[in-house]
Amino acid sequence: MTVDVTVVGGGISGLACARAIQDAGKTVRVLDRGRRVGGRLSSRTIEGRPVDLGASYFVVGEAERFGHLVADWEERDLARPWTDTFVVVDAEGNQAPKPGPMRWAAPLGLRSLALDLAAGLDVVSERAVERVAPYVVDGESAGDVVLAIPEPQAARLTALPIGDGSAWEPVIAVVLRWDERQWPADLHGAFADGDADVSFVADDGDRRGDGAPVLVVHTTADRARKHLDDPDGAIAPVVAATRRLLQIDLDPASTFAHRWTFARPAATTGRPFFRSPGLSACGDAWGDSSAVRTAWTSGDALGRALAAS
Ligand SMILES: Cc1cc2nc3c(=O)[nH]c(=O)nc-3n(C[C@H](O)[C@H](O)[C@H](O)COP(=O)(O)OP(=O)(O)OC[C@H]3O[C@@H](n4cnc5c(N)ncnc54)[C@H](O)[C@@H]3O)c2cc1C
Repeated sequence: MTVDVTVVGGGISGLACARAIQDAGKTVRVLDRGRRVGGRLSSRTIEGRPVDLGASYFVVGEAERFGHLVADWEERDLARPWTDTFVVVDAEGNQAPKPGPMRWAAPLGLRSLALDLAAGLDVVSERAVERVAPYVVDGESAGDVVLAIPEPQAARLTALPIGDGSAWEPVIAVVLRWDERQWPADLHGAFADGDADVSFVADDGDRRGDGAPVLVVHTTADRARKHLDDPDGAIAPVVAATRRLLQIDLDPASTFAHRWTFARPAATTGRPFFRSPGLSACGDAWGDSSAVRTAWTSGDALGRALAAS
């Protein structure tokens, strides 16, 4: 069946785009190379419970249409306000509170929100697209084509210039589980100030609401670059840094590492999306800051623009 629009990428931007198109009465298909949709909204079941490996949380901010969606998720217990206060921790382990906007989390893991958006959409999983051109995906007629994937990945699929060629930074997410909690209940999350190895630590049991003694630690881009071929190699320096920063006496009982080669763009374009005849692009590089709400807003805006044309 020929569709009006084919979206390559079933992360939150591609799903938002597809929903806007379908809601406007047009036909749309989403192709994603993963086993399940979500992309960097990634939750993986580890030792029987979902752990957020990608985005740590999301912020609604001034994003009005995204705010309506989040209110609906909250009403259906899919999302919940987590905290507006993290700490900043220095090299000696001194902590200072860092208030900010309300951060939201998902009791079932952030991927559950992507799965919710995908419900009722024509999504083809485990379909890795290799080549796109205006109105064409892998040599087949595809309607308008949308690339909802990180720009370095998009650049491999088409010779057309999309985006501004900005570099993307890697992160390795390291899951650390102890048998019992080793940190205070009001930690929520910690930014590591100037640490060479760790950038952010999230209390996964706190954000998910089950109290499990699990931390998810994101490396700095420099530490991640050293381990792109061997993410497990990041575990030992991350454990050492986390124990030092949070003054934890024990090694974790179990660990798990996940590599994000393209975790976030070093800069964003400031424009809402890219559009040219037959080939468009959306995602978290399109907007003011690389974030979940930016990705959703970009996809939603592009979908509405395509549906109106
Ligand atoms: C470690 C980490 C921490 C983060 N922390 C936060 C945070 O705390 N708060 C926040 O707001 N944001 C955070 N982010 C950013 C947030 O996750 C992203 O902005 C958002 O999820 C991007 O969504 P997207 O749809 O644009 O892209 P993605 O989620 O990357 O989706 C792209 C999809 O395209 C698919 N794909 C790629 N290539 C192909 C292909 N050739 N064929 C078919 N499918 C393909 C992939 O499988 C993927 O599902 C974080 C990201 C990472 C990695």
